[in-house]
Amino acid sequence: MTVKQIYMDAEALLEGHFKLSSGNHSQFYLQSAKVLEDPRTAQKLAAALASQIQEHGIKIDTVCAPALGGLIAGYALASALDVRYIFAERIDGVMTIRRGFEVAENEKVLICEDIITTGGSAVEAAAAIEQLGGSVVAFAALANRGFCRREHSNIQRHDNCKLPKETPFFALADFDFPMYPPEACPLCQDGSVAIKPGSRGN
Ligand code: ZN
Repeated sequence: MTVKQIYMDAEALLEGHFKLSSGNHSQFYLQSAKVLEDPRTAQKLAAALASQIQEHGIKIDTVCAPALGGLIAGYALASALDVRYIFAERIDGVMTIRRGFEVAENEKVLICEDIITTGGSAVEAAAAIEQLGGSVVAFAALANRGFCRREHSNIQRHDNCKLPKETPFFALADFDFPMYPPEACPLCQDGSVAIKPGSRGN
C-alpha cells in the first residue's frame, strides 16, 4: 500500500483552502495525526522509514523531533531504530531542548518530522541540538511536500528548502501538491478564505 493511500484511507488528506505554517496557501492539507492515531500504522510507517535509513548505513544515536508535529513520528522512528528519543519545543518562539534531555558532544542525531515542507522547524531543532554539541547527521519525515530533495527520489530541491544540502533526508513519499503565496493563490482569487488547519475542528 502506498503512503498516499494510507493518508486517504485515514481521511488525513484534506481538501479545501488551507493556510500552511509556511504562510503559503494550498488546496490540500496532510493531517498526519489522523494517520498516526492508529499505533500499528505509525509502527508500520516508522519501520519502513527505519529500514531505508539502515540501508543507507548511517549511524544514529538519537532521534529528536520538533514538537508538536514531529512527536509521534519521531517516537515511532526511534522505537523502530532502537535508539534514544528526545524532542525540541518552541519556547518564546525559539526551538529549545528542555525537560532534562542531555546531548553528548558529537552525539549523532536524526531530526524527525511528520511532514517536511520547507523544513523550517526541523532546521531550528537541528540548531538547538548543535548548540548543545550534538551532530545532526540526517533528517527524516513520513512524507516530503516536494520542496526538498529526499534520498531515492528525483524530485528536485527548490530554493525555499531550508534543509542543509549536504545532510541526507529520508522520507517515504513525495506529496507534490501545488502551493501558492497568498498574493498569487487562485483559491483566494476565487473569493474563498484560507483556514488554518486545526482551527475549525480539523
Ligand atoms: Zn488562498
